[in-house]
Amino acid sequence: MKIQTLKKIPAVSQSFLIVLTALFLVLFDNASFFSNVVKIYPATFSSLPFLVSLFFLLLSFIIVLFAIVSYKHTIKPVLMIILLISAVSSYFMNSYNIIIDENMLRNIIQTNPSEALDLINIKLILYLIFMGLLPCYLIYKIKIKESTFKSAIKSKIKIILLLIITIVLIIFSFSKNYASFIREQKTLRLYTNPVFYIYSTGKYISSSFKIQNLPLKLIGQDATIDKNDTGKKLVILVVGETARADRFSLNGYSKKTNPLLEKEDLISFKNMYSCGTSTAVSVPCMFSKFTREQYDAEKGQTYENILDVLSRAGVNVLWRDNNSDSKGVALRIPYENYQTKKLNPICDTECRDEGMLVGLQKYINNHKGNILIVLHQMGNHGPAYYKRYPKKFEIFTPACKDKNLENCTEEQINNSYDNSIAYTDYFLSKAIQLLKKNSANYETALYYISDHGESLGEKGIYLHGMPYFIAPDSQKHVASIFWAGKRLKIDREKLKAKETQALSHDNIFHTLLGLFGVKTKIYNKKLDMLDHTEKN
Ligand SMILES: [Zn+2]
Repeated sequence: MKIQTLKKIPAVSQSFLIVLTALFLVLFDNASFFSNVVKIYPATFSSLPFLVSLFFLLLSFIIVLFAIVSYKHTIKPVLMIILLISAVSSYFMNSYNIIIDENMLRNIIQTNPSEALDLINIKLILYLIFMGLLPCYLIYKIKIKESTFKSAIKSKIKIILLLIITIVLIIFSFSKNYASFIREQKTLRLYTNPVFYIYSTGKYISSSFKIQNLPLKLIGQDATIDKNDTGKKLVILVVGETARADRFSLNGYSKKTNPLLEKEDLISFKNMYSCGTSTAVSVPCMFSKFTREQYDAEKGQTYENILDVLSRAGVNVLWRDNNSDSKGVALRIPYENYQTKKLNPICDTECRDEGMLVGLQKYINNHKGNILIVLHQMGNHGPAYYKRYPKKFEIFTPACKDKNLENCTEEQINNSYDNSIAYTDYFLSKAIQLLKKNSANYETALYYISDHGESLGEKGIYLHGMPYFIAPDSQKHVASIFWAGKRLKIDREKLKAKETQALSHDNIFHTLLGLFGVKTKIYNKKLDMLDHTEKN
C-alpha cells in the first residue's frame, strides 16, 4: 500500500531533492544550533527578522554544499549518508550539548566497541529511525527526473549563483547582527548540523593523512641518568580517567570520596589543569615535550615522548592499560592490555583497575635499576559511571544505574560518578601500599593525574570533549596527587607550597625527567614540579 502510494509520487529534479533534504535538516536536525542561538539572541519581536534570516542563511548554505557534491549517481548515497550521520549527531548534540569538532571525531574513531555500546539506547535508535532511516527510505524510493549532464550542470550553477547572491543579500541586510555573529559568536557555528561536522571531517582526514606519512622525530637523544644520582627509583604513574578535581574530598569536596587517601601523607594538587578535554588529546599531550599551547595531534603522533626518552636513558618502563589503549604513547615500550581476563585476574561485570596491580611485585623483582610503571585507568569513564566500580563501592545512594543519563536525577548521576571516584581512591591507596612494601629498596613515588574532567549536567552539558576554548572548567580542572616514599630526595616543604599553585599537564614531561635524575638539554627545570635541590 505504502509503496503503491510512493509510486504515484511524480519524478523530481535533483535540485528539488537537494532543497527538500536541506530543509529537513534545518528544521529537524538543528535544534541544538537554534537553542544556542536563542540563548544569545532571545526570540523577541525585534530580533525575529534576524533569526528568520539565520534560518534561510543556514538553508542556503546547506543547499550550496549539497549542490557541489550531488550528481546523477552520487546524489542519493550522499544525501542518505548525511541524513544518517546528522540524525546521530543531532541526538548527541541535543542530549549532551556536545560539539563534533576534529578532536571529537578523533575521540569517536578511537573509542572501542564496549565504550560505544554504552552510548547506544532507545532514544538514539528512535532518532536514527525517524530522522535518518525514514527520510533515507523516501529518497531511495523517489524517482529523479532524467536530464542531460549539460542541463543538470547548468541548473546547478544557476542555483549555486542564486543562493550565493541570497547569502550575500541576507548578510548585507542584517550586517550589524552578522558583524557580531561572525566576530563574537564564533562558537555558535560549531553547532550547525551537518555543516560543522562535514568541515571537521575534512580537517580530520587531511591531518590524519599528513601524520601517516611523516617520520618519527627522535627527542632527547643526549638523555643519560645523572651518575651522582645513585638511588634506585620505583615510580608508579597513574593516568586517571575523567576525574574532576572538585570531586576529591582531598580538595574539599563535601562527600568523603577519598577515605583511604586522606590517611596518607601526600600532596593533592588543587589547581591542576588538563591539556585537552578528551582522552585522545590529553593522553598523548601529557607525555609530549610540548606545552598545551604548542601541542597538536601531528606533534603528538610524530614526536617521541617522555617514555621513549626515559627508556633510552635506561629506565625500565612498563605500560599497563585498562582503558581503550595508550593513544600512541606506548608504541615503543612494553605494553600490556588489562581490559580482558587474559591478563587481568580481577574482572566481574568488567575488568577492574585494581587488576593492573596484580603481579607487579614480580615485575619489580625481575628488573634491576630504575622502574617506571604507567597504569592507565578506566577510572570514571562515562556515561555508565555505575559500571566503573564493584558493588561494595556503591557508597553514595541512590546511584544512577542507567547508561542513559537523561533517565536519572542529578543526585543519582552525581552519586554514581562519586562512587567511581571512591573506587579510584581505593585503587590508588592499594598502589601506595605496594610502593611502601618496596620502600626499603627503592626511592618510591606515586604520581596520579587525570586526563580530563567531566560535565555532569551543569548548564545541560554532559560528558566531555568540548573545544578547549569554550569547555567548562569541570572538563579541564583535574584531580592529581603525589605521594613519595621516605627515601625519595625531594624538598617536601617546597612541594607542599605547590598544592595550590597553577599546574598543568605541561609539567609532567619535565617532572618525570627530574624524578629519574635524567640529564638532557630538553629538560626545563621551571616546569619540573618537584624540587631536587634540597635533599631531605
Ligand atoms: Zn579520558
